[in-house]
Amino acid sequence: TDVLNYFEQRCQGSARLAEQAKAVIPGGVQHNLAFNYPFPLAIKEARGAHMTDVDGNRYIDFLQAGGPTLLGSNHPVVLERVKGLLDECGPTTGLLHEYEVKLAELVCQVMPGVDMLRMMGSGTEAVMGAIRLARAYSGKKRVIKIGGGYHGWSDQMVYGMRLPKTGRMEAIGIPRGATAATQESLPNDLEAIRRKLKWNRLRGGTAAVIVEPFGPESGTRPVTRNFNAALRKLCDEFDTLLIFDEVVTGFRAGMGGAQGYFGVTPDLTVLGKCLTGGYPMAGAIGGRRDIMMMLVGGIGTTTKRAFVGGTLTANPLSCAAGYFALQEMRRTDAAFKAGQAGDRMRNGLEQIIERLGLPYVAYNMGSIVHLQTSGVMLLDTSSLLKLARVKNEAKERKHMMEEMGAAYSAHGVITLAGSRIYTSLADSDEVIDDALNRFED
Ligand code: PLP
Repeated sequence: TDVLNYFEQRCQGSARLAEQAKAVIPGGVQHNLAFNYPFPLAIKEARGAHMTDVDGNRYIDFLQAGGPTLLGSNHPVVLERVKGLLDECGPTTGLLHEYEVKLAELVCQVMPGVDMLRMMGSGTEAVMGAIRLARAYSGKKRVIKIGGGYHGWSDQMVYGMRLPKTGRMEAIGIPRGATAATQESLPNDLEAIRRKLKWNRLRGGTAAVIVEPFGPESGTRPVTRNFNAALRKLCDEFDTLLIFDEVVTGFRAGMGGAQGYFGVTPDLTVLGKCLTGGYPMAGAIGGRRDIMMMLVGGIGTTTKRAFVGGTLTANPLSCAAGYFALQEMRRTDAAFKAGQAGDRMRNGLEQIIERLGLPYVAYNMGSIVHLQTSGVMLLDTSSLLKLARVKNEAKERKHMMEEMGAAYSAHGVITLAGSRIYTSLADSDEVIDDALNRFED
């Protein structure tokens, strides 16, 4: 009731806009992160660690737009540089721009697995491009992903492939054929991946294994120690390309991404989010030179080419924003500092959980903090089964995460769906301690 009262009394401007939106935008929400219980908040201002809604309420911002703003929202240095560029040539020209080269040079310098870079329109597009490249290069079609892993919303990477089947559809709106060459394995189950690779070897082989290197869903199901290194070996053994989807971990886990963090070099890397520091069109494929050259026909041949496209890809605005944001991340050691804020946050949450005797688990990988209200860490098959049981027991607590998220908002903290916190360079000790008090309330 307190939470609903908050929204009713203090968020009337948001309520009005949300109602207006419903007439022209399906469900009144364009963005999956703008969770809508009881309605999405309409934001007027975002700066550093805080956001202010249209009613003037101020929030600590742990959504950080879903991860791209490692420097904090609307970083002034990046903003000034982007403004200068816009004055000069506007957001796009369709031809080559200096900042495309500068950004690519910088990424190639800091990411171990990136010899060359090709900008794409989004993380989803970059995943599609990387898979196409892997198939073109290897001449094989099958791709293995990890169950629960999110690689964008393309048909072949359908999220949660075990959705109820709808006639000839694998999932709603996705025909079975679209996922015919996609296989799914359980998190942390190297033996299951080996079995699939073996099975595939007798049937034309496996083009690639694609993983989020911190584990599915940005580490909601964390990887076990050595998983990535063992997977690298397994892929080599079966002559299969390893793709790291670093849309979340790229630059957030350090300038070298999760590949730098784990010391495991993939053949192809998918980037997004932090790559353009929160500015639009965040997506890129990076990787080994011989594979990347397939985008223009392969070294010494013009016959085999993996086509990708996009009117606005590699526009000067995205590239300049990315270049200045990455430089600033490197200069300030943003990943490390945001990681320290993440440690402080997790530590504080653990103390609250213990003090109040809550059945929750808090854990973090640097600046990505997870708060599992199921009380289960989703490491393997048995923990997933356990979660299914917990979920069944809690069926009557419908929309629990959304309700939690709404309750946090009513206490001035915005999270990602009530269960994830992205910390940023802007999160001083004071911001974290203020947030922890609000969580405890
Ligand atoms: N891959 C991962 C690991 C992601 O977390 C996301 C988005 O959250 C994507 C791919 C898709 O990126 P985009 O939303 O830019 O299409």
